[in-house]
Amino acid sequence: MTRRIPEPYRIKMVEPIRQTTAAERETALNAAGWNPFLLDAADVYIDLLTDSGTGAMSDRQWAGLMLGDEAYAGGRNFHHLCETVEDLFGYAHTIPTHQGRGAEQILFPELVRRCGSARPVFVSNYHFDTTKAHVELAGARAVNLLCAEALDTGRAADWKGNIDLDALRRTLDEAGSDNVAALIMTVTCNSAGGQPVSMDNLRAAAALARSRGVPVVLDAARYAENAWFIKQRDPAYAEASLRDIVREMFAQADMFTMSAKKDALVNIGGICAIRDDAELARAVQVRGIALEGFVSYGGLAGRDLEAMAIGLREGLDDDYLRWRVAQVEYLGARLRDAGVPIQTPTGGHAVFVDAARLLPHIPAEQFPGHALACALYLEGGVRAVEIGSLLLGRDPATGVQEPSPFELLRLTIPRRVYTNDHMDYVADCLIAVKRRAATLHGLEFTDEPPLLRHFTARLRPVAPAQALAA
Ligand SMILES: *Cc1c(COP(=O)(O)O)cnc(C)c1O
Repeated sequence: MTRRIPEPYRIKMVEPIRQTTAAERETALNAAGWNPFLLDAADVYIDLLTDSGTGAMSDRQWAGLMLGDEAYAGGRNFHHLCETVEDLFGYAHTIPTHQGRGAEQILFPELVRRCGSARPVFVSNYHFDTTKAHVELAGARAVNLLCAEALDTGRAADWKGNIDLDALRRTLDEAGSDNVAALIMTVTCNSAGGQPVSMDNLRAAAALARSRGVPVVLDAARYAENAWFIKQRDPAYAEASLRDIVREMFAQADMFTMSAKKDALVNIGGICAIRDDAELARAVQVRGIALEGFVSYGGLAGRDLEAMAIGLREGLDDDYLRWRVAQVEYLGARLRDAGVPIQTPTGGHAVFVDAARLLPHIPAEQFPGHALACALYLEGGVRAVEIGSLLLGRDPATGVQEPSPFELLRLTIPRRVYTNDHMDYVADCLIAVKRRAATLHGLEFTDEPPLLRHFTARLRPVAPAQALAA
């Protein structure tokens, strides 16, 4: 047995969490319209809803908060952030935003405007949900071209986040370069299971886009975890430093959007950065002033910018990443050993359970991943989230449910927050749910919002609630 990797930190402050009773959980889930997003966090014991903004900051980051310069314009923390972005990623223009979607909302309309097409497309290995929403709000269409390996959750492959290069070539040809607003490479690919994109794939996809004059955007929320996988899995980079790998990744793109709430280890913050196109940077800044705030704070306090500048570097620490990825692997191994079908190998930030395989009796339109999320909450107060048909939603033009390539339950691990004892507890709960999988029922809407519906939809079990809770 390989030795477990202990946490590369010790605990300086604790936050109590409280377990609920089964009866309390049933009442809470009913009140939340069978949507874990609508639960009170106080009713959740282990919260694996998301790794977004849920990480623990370090003592250094907390100390950085005290160095906040709350000047309206040109504060020192903004300069620290710009220097850090320039140093780590090599980009000249840094526009802070309140979070990742803030970067999307100021960049995408500008890319659409530059593209000039009446109905442009954005192509991606996979658009994250808010990314897709902002593509559509900008009047464009989002096309996902994820590689085929990613869909076979049972088969191990190193680079399940890769874009399908043949499909990309075809799409660029068919759409015509004039109609493609950008290539967005999401690293790691959240929707496929936090799966990495290889350097070769990134390079080849970017070259294809460039050869047709299509700008390349990195959706860089998990830049560090992706770099870690490249170092582990690509022999060409085994001896490279994470910093060099990150530099090379970002050299493939012209701009990036980043939710700093993931690998940059802050509770709030985002970045839009542009490598060298000053004219584009200026246009995006102008949009940002209207939507996010002045160019040197972007909807954040000076102290938040400081924590972000520090977190961008901490997220790239070798010891931290080794432990981080091992913890996710540990949870995955416990589940796999108990026969729970998961996306293999485990990704950087989450374990994805294949709900379609665990609950084959629940059809996609009754959301097997979501049914599993509800059952896991009732079992042990563990909150997780569906990544499947519920999240994907309907085609905005036709109103027809888009066919989802997978029905997954995402167990998302916050950074530096839970121990492996917590992971054991989560595994035990899910294994208990697996034993009664055949008794679980699907769900139907009682209220379905038109956009980003999974956040606020209300549902009910297709069969009586007692059947799920039993
Ligand atoms: C979280 C995330 C976003 C959106 O960022 P927010 O900070 O939640 O607004 C965009 N893309 C990816 C890949 C993400 O994981």
